[in-house]
Order: sequence, then structure tokens, then C-alpha cells
Amino acid sequence: MKIAVYPGSFDPVSNGHLDIIQRAAKIFDKVYVVVSVNTKKKSTFTIEEKVGMLKKVTKDIDNVVVEASQDLLLNYAKSKDACVIIRGLRNFNDYQDEITLFQFNRSIAPTIDTMLLFPSQDNLFLSSSSIKELVTFNADISSYVPKELCEYITKVLKERL
Ligand code: ADP
Repeated sequence: MKIAVYPGSFDPVSNGHLDIIQRAAKIFDKVYVVVSVNTKKKSTFTIEEKVGMLKKVTKDIDNVVVEASQDLLLNYAKSKDACVIIRGLRNFNDYQDEITLFQFNRSIAPTIDTMLLFPSQDNLFLSSSSIKELVTFNADISSYVPKELCEYITKVLKERL
């Protein structure tokens, strides 16, 4: 059984994240989507809220499991018998971040590979931070987040930003 882990901050989940989850779920027998604590980024949504949003949008994908983890990602991946870490790649900036992360992960856990997936053209420019910025300026985000979450994400961001 081929198992992968897709980690991220998902603050909030976007169509780009969902795009990568759908692609990974077609390649692997099981995909753990893991909300990880990112010490460099301040979150707007709580871990429970992020897990709730991800569960809602993946409820029809049978081989996807959503969890949160405070562990080192590699320890989490080992505990799930995962052989691959999935990351999404949008542009050269992502590449620079990912290659650093990959090298670090490879030196700690040589048996776990990193797989980079591109989203569809429509989602290539999308980031959680741009979604937040749009809401700050009262712009419509319905093309960028899963439709069942659009109202909720807009409301929460308006209250907290
Ligand atoms: P962000 O960089 O938006 O704060 P996360 O930390 O939640 O995102 O990202 C988790 C993973 O998903 C990272 O590998 C990131 O590059 C990827 N990702 C984020 N947005 C997109 C997108 N629009 N298309 C493809 N991958 C994405």
C-alpha cells in the first residue's frame, strides 16, 4: 500500500490545496492531509477549524484522511508508514523553499521521498495569503476557495483580519 502525507498550514484551504489533494489521491492508496504547526507563520484559523474545513471538502474522497500534528513531519510520516511527502509547486519561489525543505528531510529520513505536484493553470497563482488580502479589500473569493466554504471563510476572515 502506497501512503503519502500532504502537509501544510491551510490557513485557509484554497482550491489550489484541494487540487493537489485530488491529484495525490489518484496516485496513492492513502493520503494523509496533515495540518501542521508552522512556527514562521501566524495563523488566522485555529487547528480545529482548519481540520474541519479540510474534512468537509474531502468527505467524498475515500482514501483521504485529515489530521493535525504537532510532531516533526518526518516522525508523523513514519508513524503512518508513508513513503512520500507531497508538496504543491506554483512557481520558482515555491521551488526555492521546497528544495531546502527536501534536502533537510532527505538528510533526516533518506527513505522518505518528496513529490512535487503542479496544480491546474487556474490555481497556479493562488495562495492563502492572497485570499486573506482579497477579503480585507471586500473582494469576492468565490473563485479561489471550495464553494461550500466560501461564506464561512469570508465571514471568519472579516471578523479576524
Ligand atoms: P501557503 O504557501 O499558501 O501558505 P500552505 O503552507 O498551506 O500554503 O501550503 C501547503 C502546500 O500546498 C505547499 O506545498 C504549498 O506550496 C502548496 N500550495 C499552496 N497553495 C497552492 C496552490 N495554489 N497550488 C498548488 N500548491 C499549493
